[in-house]
Amino acid sequence: MPKKILIVEDNEDSRELVVKVLRNKGYEMVEAADGEEAVEKAVAEKPDLILLDISLPKLDGYEVAKRLKSLEEFQEIPIVAFTAHAMKGDREKAIIAGFEGYISKPVDIRDLPVQVKSFIRGKRESILNGDEA
Ligand code: MN
Repeated sequence: MPKKILIVEDNEDSRELVVKVLRNKGYEMVEAADGEEAVEKAVAEKPDLILLDISLPKLDGYEVAKRLKSLEEFQEIPIVAFTAHAMKGDREKAIIAGFEGYISKPVDIRDLPVQVKSFIRGKRESILNGDEA
């Protein structure tokens, strides 16, 4: 069975690029364009990985991650920040919110599938080290 990935990104071009790249690698893709839709789709679809933009309409990525990580069924599901803003303070906030790591935007289409694979395998990226996930 293909692994299912939820991509949460309000920028349509960016979201569609991620969907295209990962669908080509055989993943089943689910999309959400704002924070409320992200929570709804996550609960309904039970993805194996969530790529979550931080700046989103309605609820931001931190709030989405906190809400999902407060649910038992999401304890083991990696939530990865999909963001251009990977500053030191952001990392601390991301740890508190329950993110597993970062994937930097703009997306590197050759590196993205490699990063996704490692997060799905449960190889935790250290979000305390380096600027790039
Ligand atoms: Mn955004």
